[in-house]
Amino acid sequence: MLILVINCGSSSVKYDLFDVDGTGRDLCRGIVERIGEDSSIITHEVRGAEKICKKVSCRDHHQAVEIIRDALLDENKSVISEASEVKGVGHRVVHGGEEFSQSTLIDDDVIKSIEKFVPLAPLHNPPSLEGIKSCRKIFRSAPQVAVFDTAFHHSMEKYVYCYGVKYEFYEKYGIRRYGFHGTSHRYVAARAAELLKKPFKELNAITVHLGNGCSAAAVSGGRSVDTSMGFTPLEGLVMGTRSGDIDPAAVTFLMQKEGLDGEGVNDILNKKSGLLGVSGISNDMRDILKAIDAGDKRAQLAYDVFLYRIKKYIGSYAAVLGRVDAVVFTAGIGENVPAIKDTMQKDLRPLMGKKTKFLIIATNEELLIAKDTYGIVKNME
Ligand code: ADP
Repeated sequence: MLILVINCGSSSVKYDLFDVDGTGRDLCRGIVERIGEDSSIITHEVRGAEKICKKVSCRDHHQAVEIIRDALLDENKSVISEASEVKGVGHRVVHGGEEFSQSTLIDDDVIKSIEKFVPLAPLHNPPSLEGIKSCRKIFRSAPQVAVFDTAFHHSMEKYVYCYGVKYEFYEKYGIRRYGFHGTSHRYVAARAAELLKKPFKELNAITVHLGNGCSAAAVSGGRSVDTSMGFTPLEGLVMGTRSGDIDPAAVTFLMQKEGLDGEGVNDILNKKSGLLGVSGISNDMRDILKAIDAGDKRAQLAYDVFLYRIKKYIGSYAAVLGRVDAVVFTAGIGENVPAIKDTMQKDLRPLMGKKTKFLIIATNEELLIAKDTYGIVKNME
């Protein structure tokens, strides 16, 4: 059965087509980028063939989905011969608020709920909605499924997700911790259970997703019990351009000193902080490592701040879990910089004990989205 996975960003749409009955490997993948700009680009890669990259005219997300459909139908590559061969479309949706604890078949009510959470994820939920609405028209015969970044963390206890602020703010505005990257944490935790030959329900793991955004999660009994991102993806670990945890009093102080309004300070903490802010060089770990090799002290500091925060979170989650079977590193930085895993393994061994395994596992959020979608649509035919 063919399942298409769609991941919409503000100016891009990523896609990935899986044959879920087969090997679980994707048949093709790609991205339409620079949507709404003068010249947009599609990069399309069919497994076993050369990647193609071409300029296209693409004014919005709807047109991007049309371009994706046409790329899948391209007769030279013959991935599919009719759009109706796609039997389900899985959408990555960042914010499912308190409503969604699992992947969900999309109907008008689900769309209304995703719209309701736009104020909580103003950059992320609107493009996802565009993608969903377009796919409903363009892949008309395929059921659409929403897979939420927040859903896996829905299992957190109230005393875990509640901030120490006036309770009315939670009731009125939904100010609480939600957590993100849930699909990635769930995927690598389940893979760790497989590798350790333990039922997922019996595994205690700490998963550390280090990509452009970074977060850690404590996983027990197949559920997330805590995670480092909170009300927004700004909280927790130090990231490429995001500060992670910071004293909230520093925010108001900065606003006064730099003459910033809320948006201005938000912009600094989200886009000009983290590895980029501390190093003054780059948000990309590859550039930071190069600069460290060249003797740059600020790059070294950025790296040290980044690692120290990871260590503190792993340590606190060890306290939360009691027993830790595995600490798992994943995503762009987690998978490609083994020195981070090695440092944590060395430094945390006395705390964890001998039995804890430190692992690097490649994440595959798209595959999990495809499998969740399949799980829902397979019973519908
Ligand atoms: P996203 O969270 O957007 O999915 P990724 O998981 O692709 O991001 O991670 C992107 C980050 O991974 C880059 O910013 C870069 O810092 C880092 N990265 C990717 N490849 C390497 C590498 N070979 N060595 C070090 N860092 C890498």
